[in-house]
Amino acid sequence: MKQGLLIDMDGVIYSGEELIFGADKFIKHLLDHDIPFAFMTNNSQRTSLEVVRKLSRFGITVESKHIYTSAMATGKFLGDQSPNGTAYVLGEGGLLTSLHENGITLVDTDPEFVVLGEGRNFTLEMVQRAVDMILAGAKFITTNRDPSPKKPGWNNLGIAATTAMIEEATGRKAFVTGKPSPVMMRSARKFLGLETAETTVVGDTMETDIQGGVQMGYKTILVLSGISNKDQLSHYAFKPDMIVGSVDKIEFPLKWW
Ligand SMILES: [Mg+2]
Repeated sequence: MKQGLLIDMDGVIYSGEELIFGADKFIKHLLDHDIPFAFMTNNSQRTSLEVVRKLSRFGITVESKHIYTSAMATGKFLGDQSPNGTAYVLGEGGLLTSLHENGITLVDTDPEFVVLGEGRNFTLEMVQRAVDMILAGAKFITTNRDPSPKKPGWNNLGIAATTAMIEEATGRKAFVTGKPSPVMMRSARKFLGLETAETTVVGDTMETDIQGGVQMGYKTILVLSGISNKDQLSHYAFKPDMIVGSVDKIEFPLKWW
């Protein structure tokens, strides 16, 4: 049986602008041993080529086939739900590209979907227009609900904040397509061509990576190089199959391989 990995990036491979120690060696091992893997990121801003370029700055050389973003999951989902559907988008390149590639037409009036992603290019006027569209019957999709960083100088507001703003203004709850939504957890596995029993998730966040993996029946590895703190793990009703300090400490073959 083949075995493969879905790997989160922020807090696993890099932290801010710094490579996490050993992450480059970890990825090289996967490449050298033909172990299937994809980076699975909730950030919908970048196209897969832009993610490839970002990783290359950390000395990690991969291809588009190794990247799976919430933008890709969202495009695929909407394309399946509504072939030739229409969307009004608050978001940037990665999301716009993916929707287009999946046959969704981007419109300014009367859309079937309002789709929210990360971005800094949209205005409150555009948000209000989106609110009006949702109140008039458009379906509200958000690419993820990652919490706001709550740190001064951070490079984005946090999509949870913009999602909450629109939910408050419309009284409607967003449908989430990114991690931990099964929409993305399942389509990322299919993107890699793996079966459930062949899939292991590696991530630093209990609420997204690990919860998403546990709910799908995948194996899960929590790394402590990012957001999660070991002392808080007992507060969760679910637990990862393995906990390591960082990807540098993962030994192959994994004990369930
Ligand atoms: Mg992360």
